[in-house]
Amino acid sequence: MIKMEKVRGILIGRMQPVHNGHMQVIDKILDEVDEIIIGIGSAQLSHELKDPFTAGERVMMISQSLAERGVDPSRYYIIPMQDINFNAIWVSHVKMLTPPFSIVYSGNPLVKQLFSEEGFEVNQPPLYDRLHLSGTEVRRRMLENLNWEELVPKATAELINEINGVERLKNLSNKEVSEL
Ligand code: NAD
Repeated sequence: MIKMEKVRGILIGRMQPVHNGHMQVIDKILDEVDEIIIGIGSAQLSHELKDPFTAGERVMMISQSLAERGVDPSRYYIIPMQDINFNAIWVSHVKMLTPPFSIVYSGNPLVKQLFSEEGFEVNQPPLYDRLHLSGTEVRRRMLENLNWEELVPKATAELINEINGVERLKNLSNKEVSEL
């Protein structure tokens, strides 16, 4: 009997926070591969205006949002990845942290370039409602008391509320008197 190898794809994103665009891409990738590796990029960053959430919080956002969608847990791996200073060896760094994969999904030009140079098949998934479905837009709405919950999975909104994430972001945006 011929043993068929599993086809694995990888999606790497900062996911600050996870939003409905990420979830739609994950759905699409799962239609094309047996297993998906979801890399939480810039894992070392948190408590900054552009990167408010810790890697652990982002892992919970994704795992709870996938559970809410009914995605089989045996089909995905969620792996936090710290940035490194050397773009030329970043792909090796990612490979060291993950199960083997053959297809890379990304819309990020640097990510696409680095993986293509190493011979990987790189696919650009379609962007879903990019005007509204971006981390930047979710964080803007949080700061301006607008409806950010509609842009993220319900489980992610619940987690952000549970950890007082909006309050954290607002506190981070307060300038010290000396900076004004
Ligand atoms: P992101 O969260 O903005 O996006 C992740 C992916 O989700 C994108 O590739 C895009 O395809 C998809 N996506 C986002 N919004 C979407 C939408 N509305 N519809 C459909 N798809 C959508 O993250 P990013 O900035 O691309 O993350 C790349 C990570 O890789 C960063 O953490 C970066 O630091 C890291 N990186 C590190 C190095 C290094 O350490 N030297 C080098 C390259 C990249």
